[in-house]
Amino acid sequence: MPKLNVFHYMDDLKNVNEQRVWGMLGDYIEDNDTDGMCLCGICLTDTAAITLNSIPAHYQLEPHLAVAQEKVPDSEIYRQLKRALEMVAKRPHH
Ligand SMILES: [Zn+2]
Repeated sequence: MPKLNVFHYMDDLKNVNEQRVWGMLGDYIEDNDTDGMCLCGICLTDTAAITLNSIPAHYQLEPHLAVAQEKVPDSEIYRQLKRALEMVAKRPHH
């Protein structure tokens, strides 16, 4: 019997909070004064990673993302995002 490659299904599983964090990060940059903030890929990715590590992951199967319930409120993600932005601004990794 051929070995089942479970990695084949990996891409079907998504942390729905990941898209929410990136969306809020984009909105924050558009709506706020970003003078003094580094907007390079390293700093933005660091900010998203710190934010995502501060909230619980919420995995769902990709075809069902549209009906995903939000288990972490926007206000909590926003609070963690602002904290991450301050951390990265103080100690950028480049
Ligand atoms: Zn940077």
